[in-house]
Amino acid sequence: MYVYADNAATTQVSQRALEAMLPCFREFYGNASSLHTPGQKAAELLQQAREDVAAAIHADHKEIYFTSGGSEADNQAILTGAQIGARKGKKHIISTAFEHHAVLHTLDRLKKQGYDITLLDVHENGVVTAEDVAAAIREDTALVTVMFVNNEIGTVQPIREIGAVCREKGVLFHTDAVQAVGHIPVDVQDMNIDMLSLSGHKFHAPKGVGAMYVRKGIPVSILIEGGQQERGKRGGTENIPGIVGMAAALNEALETQEADMTHLSAMRDRLIEGLSKIPHSRLNGDREKRVPGTVNFCFEGIEGESLLLLLDDKGIAASSGSACTSGSLDPSHVLLALGLPHEVAHGSLRLSLSADVTAEQIDHIIASVTEVVEYLRNMSPVWDELERGVLPHQI
Ligand SMILES: *Cc1c(COP(=O)(O)O)cnc(C)c1O
Repeated sequence: MYVYADNAATTQVSQRALEAMLPCFREFYGNASSLHTPGQKAAELLQQAREDVAAAIHADHKEIYFTSGGSEADNQAILTGAQIGARKGKKHIISTAFEHHAVLHTLDRLKKQGYDITLLDVHENGVVTAEDVAAAIREDTALVTVMFVNNEIGTVQPIREIGAVCREKGVLFHTDAVQAVGHIPVDVQDMNIDMLSLSGHKFHAPKGVGAMYVRKGIPVSILIEGGQQERGKRGGTENIPGIVGMAAALNEALETQEADMTHLSAMRDRLIEGLSKIPHSRLNGDREKRVPGTVNFCFEGIEGESLLLLLDDKGIAASSGSACTSGSLDPSHVLLALGLPHEVAHGSLRLSLSADVTAEQIDHIIASVTEVVEYLRNMSPVWDELERGVLPHQI
């Protein structure tokens, strides 16, 4: 049996997205900036996609800027907030310690340019609160950027409440909603969101396409200079196939969202119940405040990498956390932000499901993880010391 359980890293392009894209390669291949008929056809497809993406998050089509993905949207939105602040003499930015590196590294760069960055601690359940944000806001705060759903542990942040605090204090609010859009309801009006990042390949569209939403009236900073595409705010000939595929995938995700959320939540709960029976295991992040499809576990005495390789042999594609940091031996910054000890954070496993997952696949994951954890523990000197009481159990 084969199970792809790494959908938080990337997803398979859906049939519907693929079919929407195919004509854009050889039939509708015009440049959307050209005045001739093929160009105007491309411009029409672009406009329809813009309206679809806007509608999906309750925005206006004039508030959508297509980008090369979530990372670019994060970079540009944060730069926008930073530059607006700087013009008013405000150079303080608030974020959290468990953001995606597209946010954290952009903030590192701004810090070198003289911005003051506050990274909020995350509570042990993987959530930051609106009160945490309110307490950190100062006279010179320009921007708050808090992710909607954490990509490693799947916890959902109280975005509406955080947005309300920012609105009340007159501070711009950006959210990296890459793991939220397409998966759970997102409404930029109702949730008081000024700027938002989304990425196609996390909801069954292709890689290399995303979007930034910026509320009307907020002056957007330019990250990529070029032509007049995206109202002059993002140069470069538009990726029409990718953008059309993204809109199709998003339309599809919204149509099936309610049913998908119900099914995925049931599958996730079955998975959590099964994995919790493994001795000295721990679910990372709040049991309730999480997206339907993602779970993250720690197993004491286990190296994340060995676990992944043995699961791969059993036909299960999983992750030890972020795709961007697995490959390095450092424990996840997300798990460390929750306050987990280094040796525990090393043994983490992220399983992120797609809506077509079956109960049989979940049971295969549970049986395989249980078997592999036991096998690895049996040959681990660390586990031996834990069992003999030489080292204290942490979980
Ligand atoms: C995947 C991801 C990104 C980056 O998106 P890309 O389209 O791969 O650049 C940013 N933030 C979060 C939370 C993600 O999961």
